[in-house]
Amino acid sequence: MSKKKRTNRHPAYYLLTLGCPKNTVDSEGMAMLLQNDGYRATANPDAADILIVNTCGFLESAKEESLATLNDLARSKRRGQKLVAAGCLAQRNGDEIVRHVPGVDALLGTRRWMEIVPLVDALRAGRSTERYSLLGDPEHDDGVVVRPPAFGGSAYLKISDGCNAPCAFCSIPSFKGKLRSRPMAAVVDEAAGLVRNGARELVVVAQDSTDYGRDRGEADSLPQLLAAICRRSPDLRWLRLMYAYPGHVSDRLIEVMATEPQIVNYLDMPLQHGHPETLRRMRRPSSLTWVHKTVDKLRAALPDIALRTTFIVGFPGETEAEFAGLLEFMQAVQFDKLGVFKFSPEPGTPAFDLPDQVDEETKEERWHRVMALQQGISLARNQTQVGRVLDVLVEGTGELDAESLDAPVQLRSGEAVTLARSYRDAPEVDGLVLIPGVALQPGQMTTVRITGAMAYDLIGEPVADASAAGVAFTPAAELVLFG
Ligand code: SF4
Repeated sequence: MSKKKRTNRHPAYYLLTLGCPKNTVDSEGMAMLLQNDGYRATANPDAADILIVNTCGFLESAKEESLATLNDLARSKRRGQKLVAAGCLAQRNGDEIVRHVPGVDALLGTRRWMEIVPLVDALRAGRSTERYSLLGDPEHDDGVVVRPPAFGGSAYLKISDGCNAPCAFCSIPSFKGKLRSRPMAAVVDEAAGLVRNGARELVVVAQDSTDYGRDRGEADSLPQLLAAICRRSPDLRWLRLMYAYPGHVSDRLIEVMATEPQIVNYLDMPLQHGHPETLRRMRRPSSLTWVHKTVDKLRAALPDIALRTTFIVGFPGETEAEFAGLLEFMQAVQFDKLGVFKFSPEPGTPAFDLPDQVDEETKEERWHRVMALQQGISLARNQTQVGRVLDVLVEGTGELDAESLDAPVQLRSGEAVTLARSYRDAPEVDGLVLIPGVALQPGQMTTVRITGAMAYDLIGEPVADASAAGVAFTPAAELVLFG
């Protein structure tokens, strides 16, 4: 029995996660390790013995948010409370954190999060008056951490960390280092544990998921990994792939996606731009022919595939002609889902010093033009879904604000609604399937007929006896607004 369990009061930790799904995975791992060791979670920082912020340092704005959050907690720290800065900003700019937030007691790097328990034990025992700094590589990181599923039946599964790509705008390789793939057996075991814990969907994440295994001398081993996860976890309903790198989407990968029914017909392939000159300056693969061919192959093998991508507008030197090329490319490919970012110059990246930086007003204007074009494309793609019968995973319940949704007549403001996702929507970044008038349990899967489409979301109604599993809304039902 650990020393925490021998005391009357279990020490409490407050853990705040900033940034992307990769951080969410690490936070869930830390939470599980802490709980297994007798620590309990609290949502109230005042009630915590240990304060942990899993920081993000990807963009300047994220860095500022992380520093502000740490500062807020440091200022209100009471005697005996310890503050840990974990994650990307700790890894990338630990010295800056120490300078700006003197109240931080420890830095925990992105590859050391599994050492959270000995770290907080040491902090609480006051074993050192020095600030702890765990930022290098761990001796081994092959451990399997079984985490509870998040987002109502859905969990992220991180298969590697770091990145070998040379993208000119990205600071990630400078602080996360080169690609390090987790051993296949560890990933498969973790997936099986998540499914045992109730996950219906696993979302595969990495900096570049399609490069999985290359550092272990097993290039293109992602298809093998995905097949192994499916074989080992037959109860898993959806396996979803995020962050595929252009050029690394192999025929083997497409084949395994087409033959394993658990792998959803969805692919997120961040392309960053649609003009070869901009892509060359970005140090990204610039062959649009490859993209068109791969999209054709994916759509031939998986006719109902939903494709997502992300673009950056306002990259240095992006002329009006290059930007027009991006819009043409969007029209030609017709992505189902799309995210767009305004270029942000990150110190230490090659793009920071490039000439012909684009002014903020132009970036803003281009961002709006991409969004407007994509809204029309997404709406048209969504309209093709009307009449289809789709399985959905319930995320929660809410109340409609039909005006802000620009909703068709079948939705009324104030109406209670179940919020779900089909295979076409990744958690957090894509849209929802709204099911009015029925309350279903988060984490439950059900079947709906699509009755309406909006630019981002679909509307569905339960089919057969699917609604019997839910509860009819009553006026007294407690509802969370798009919770
Ligand atoms: S592939 Fe992604 S993580 Fe890797 S360098 Fe490029 S943008 Fe950064």
